[in-house]
Amino acid sequence: MPQVLVNFAYLVASILFILGLKGMAHPRTAVRGNFLGAVGMFIAVLVTVLDHRIIDYTVILAGLVVGSAIGTLLAVKVQMTAMPQMVALLNGFGGGASVLVAGAALFEAVAAGQTLSLQLTTATAASALIGAVTFSGSLIAFGKLQEVISGNAVVFPLQHLISGLVALASLALCVWVVVDPQASAVYWLLVAAALILGVLATIGIGGADMPVVISLLNSYSGLAATATGFVLENNVLIIAGSLVGASGIILTQIMCKAMNRSLTNVLFGGLGSAVQAAGTKGADVYAGKVKASSAEEVAMLLGDSRRVVIVPGYGLAVSQAQHTVRILADLLESRGAEVLYAIHPVAGRMPGHMNILLAEADVSYEVLKEMDEINPTFPQTDVAIVIGANDVVNPSARTDPKSPIAGMPILDVDKARTVVVIKRSLSPGFAGIPNPLFALDNTLLLFADAQKAVNDIVAALKENS
Ligand code: NDP
Repeated sequence: MPQVLVNFAYLVASILFILGLKGMAHPRTAVRGNFLGAVGMFIAVLVTVLDHRIIDYTVILAGLVVGSAIGTLLAVKVQMTAMPQMVALLNGFGGGASVLVAGAALFEAVAAGQTLSLQLTTATAASALIGAVTFSGSLIAFGKLQEVISGNAVVFPLQHLISGLVALASLALCVWVVVDPQASAVYWLLVAAALILGVLATIGIGGADMPVVISLLNSYSGLAATATGFVLENNVLIIAGSLVGASGIILTQIMCKAMNRSLTNVLFGGLGSAVQAAGTKGADVYAGKVKASSAEEVAMLLGDSRRVVIVPGYGLAVSQAQHTVRILADLLESRGAEVLYAIHPVAGRMPGHMNILLAEADVSYEVLKEMDEINPTFPQTDVAIVIGANDVVNPSARTDPKSPIAGMPILDVDKARTVVVIKRSLSPGFAGIPNPLFALDNTLLLFADAQKAVNDIVAALKENS
């Protein structure tokens, strides 16, 4: 295929990527955005495979078949709630692929006796460094989220000093690769040092900070792909990698803001260990103050309410209660109540998790309200129903400067006239800390699986009418 045609197709693919990203910025256009991005990727893959530089299709075909089979299986099998660890794995494999492809390109050029340009050697070193950090860091993140290893931050003496020294050694090895690219052992030494750096960088992060780390690793995987794009002089890889790198860093920023943390604090703060150190016991917070309720009592309360705000969280996703919740909202609206949904940016286990869930149940976007918009209205709310949410409604973020989530903006449900919390027990949420909301005078707890509880409330409401 002539190079000009290849580049033209890459340009079209890149435009589709950008339009796709733009589309995905709003729930209404997200499906179309996703489709445009997929078409762009299809064009990019097709053109790359047809490019004349490819000599043998056997391995590529085998890779496509195996990769597509695994991808399809995962897409069908993996639960929405396990998405962060899935994304972590995908980021990691992206980083690993960059390391291997860039290394192969360097070794091939050395074996062919080509003159090695500064662009090739610098980009290869960058790809090895960023790609390997992404690979090992993502595997650790996967292990933590999948609970294969402890989800808490692992901190040990001189951790930052050791990490700093390994980072310096990695940079020195990058320079060595650039100066002496013929020495293949140095490349692998660099990969080994960067792998250790990736482990050290992620092992010290835990608890509710993990989503931010996943987003950051996503950005790294994009940067590694960009570097590999420079190694291969492949324009679409450079552009796609830059888009991933930039969007990952923007998402990281948004999430840090949503948790009121600086990136430095996330990377070096050791949240999980802080949770262990803080050690506030649930028993101290709840002792004798928790009021259990029943579906019938909640139905009576809702029957008299004019304004109801539903606060969805991770538990709603686990229980797949979105359709039942929609039925409850419709029923309340038909009785003249105003029903809104309060969406916290880090509710659930991935950005936009609650929006996706509620969209599945055809809940209109107009009634989904973001934190800044809904918070001032809680004092005028008759009932706030918290369904499977915990950390995102924990008032200690506002009131307790020693809390591990101190300063994180939360949904101010405690200011509603009555708060109904639906969850199965008094177990903590992702951050592993007790929630004083459950012990407030205006809070009722309905201990049950979210779907069952909402179903029972709907049944009781129908009975009362
Ligand atoms: P939390 O993780 O704080 O709490 C979820 C609650 O749901 C638990 O307390 C649990 O209590 C309850 N629950 C679980 N299963 C069910 C069920 N079947 N029925 C009813 N309740 C159930 O969730 P939030 O959404 O409030 O907060 C999200 C947390 O996750 C934050 O700490 C955030 O930082 C973190 N995070 C966010 C990501 C994101 O990008 N959105 C990604 C990864 C982590 P019980 O067991 O008693 O039922």
